[in-house]
Amino acid sequence: MASPLCIRGGRILDPVRGIDRVQDLWIQDGKIAGLGEDAPADVRSNKSAQGMQVPGAIVCPGLVDIHVHLREPGQEEKETIETGTRAAARGGFTTVACMPHTVPPLDDRPRIEYVVRRARESGWARVHPIAAVTVGQMGERLTEIEDLVAAGAVAISDDGKPVRNAELMRRALELTRRLGVPVIQHAEDPDLKGDGVMHEGWTSTRLGMKGIPDAAESVMVARDALLAELTGGHVHVAHVSAARSVEIIRRAKARGIKMTAETAPHYLILTDEAVEGYDPRTKMNPPLRSAKDRDALIEAVADGTLDCLATDHAPHTEIEKDSDFDAAPFGIVGLETALGVLLKALVEPKHLSMPELILRMTANPLRVLGLPGGTLEAGTPADVTIFDPARRWTVRAAEFASMGRNTPFEGWELKGLVLLTMLGGKITYRAQPLEVSAR
Ligand SMILES: [Zn+2]
Repeated sequence: MASPLCIRGGRILDPVRGIDRVQDLWIQDGKIAGLGEDAPADVRSNKSAQGMQVPGAIVCPGLVDIHVHLREPGQEEKETIETGTRAAARGGFTTVACMPHTVPPLDDRPRIEYVVRRARESGWARVHPIAAVTVGQMGERLTEIEDLVAAGAVAISDDGKPVRNAELMRRALELTRRLGVPVIQHAEDPDLKGDGVMHEGWTSTRLGMKGIPDAAESVMVARDALLAELTGGHVHVAHVSAARSVEIIRRAKARGIKMTAETAPHYLILTDEAVEGYDPRTKMNPPLRSAKDRDALIEAVADGTLDCLATDHAPHTEIEKDSDFDAAPFGIVGLETALGVLLKALVEPKHLSMPELILRMTANPLRVLGLPGGTLEAGTPADVTIFDPARRWTVRAAEFASMGRNTPFEGWELKGLVLLTMLGGKITYRAQPLEVSAR
């Protein structure tokens, strides 16, 4: 039996179980042993126990991000499973689900198994692969979905592109319904999107840039709500950006349709006006939209219409992102700024309480994928995040563990510093020499 570890003096937040109090957290053999007096007596009296003092810090289940691009295989110049999961750990995340939008895409069993194996070798976070809906993400022919799920895929998605063909989407939903996994849709009508590069509105007109109307997203969300109703399948809408999409999702849920959804931190704090400096680090798909959209998203996160938060972490090389706005690829990194940005966007202005935010970053995203976890319950793996909500820090992309430096938040001062990330009892990130000593 290894030495138990006691995390002392932190504010324990375990929203699934309604726990919010200052208490000790005991960890033993990679698992949660219990809170305070609830930990077994032999653990608490163990002479070799170690202690860690974290007064003022929040101790919560490890954060979960179900929408990241790890770029491996095929685009290791942008990111690898190793660097992407290091970035996850630095951002307080213990679990990520990675999109199949690699080169080649994750559309066959050996590629899914490769990601699972590589993730196990690097070991900085739990990695759940998401398999492609269609072969080569070409939108023509379904992959061997059952086989891919058996190999470890937790969902299917053609993210990067939508499943454009409604009949294929219908069949994918019928199949996944039996398997109990969602189809994650990058909701976008490709014809409406055209070659737009930013939100279509007053700002795009003023800047003379080609716009992407909000309807490009919302018409696809509406179609998918109808297909989910038709099939009884589960559609999860990725990176919702528009107020009209929120309206459709809210009504679909009220009708009992199995539709869940996420949004990303940047949509909750930036608007299309951020594009005014023509900085490619403000270019993502879907694009930053109007203040009205942003406010509707905040309301929808608060009332639960949007189930969870996910970063859409999309690393690109500096050369790619240094080109001019029109030519630059879509996407920004997000793992290492998510917590600070979300605290600023949602908790500081009191749109959400701290436990409500943590729930949307832990158990809720796991439930979308039908996975257990997201609590500090005794006996579960010790996936734990400790952060100081009051500590200020400045975003410096040069310090990122991610190979991607493409963030719109460079130089921002944020509150909420991750002090420590623990995966199955093993420390995967530590902000500073946080003292571990004999208790
Ligand atoms: Zn996408």
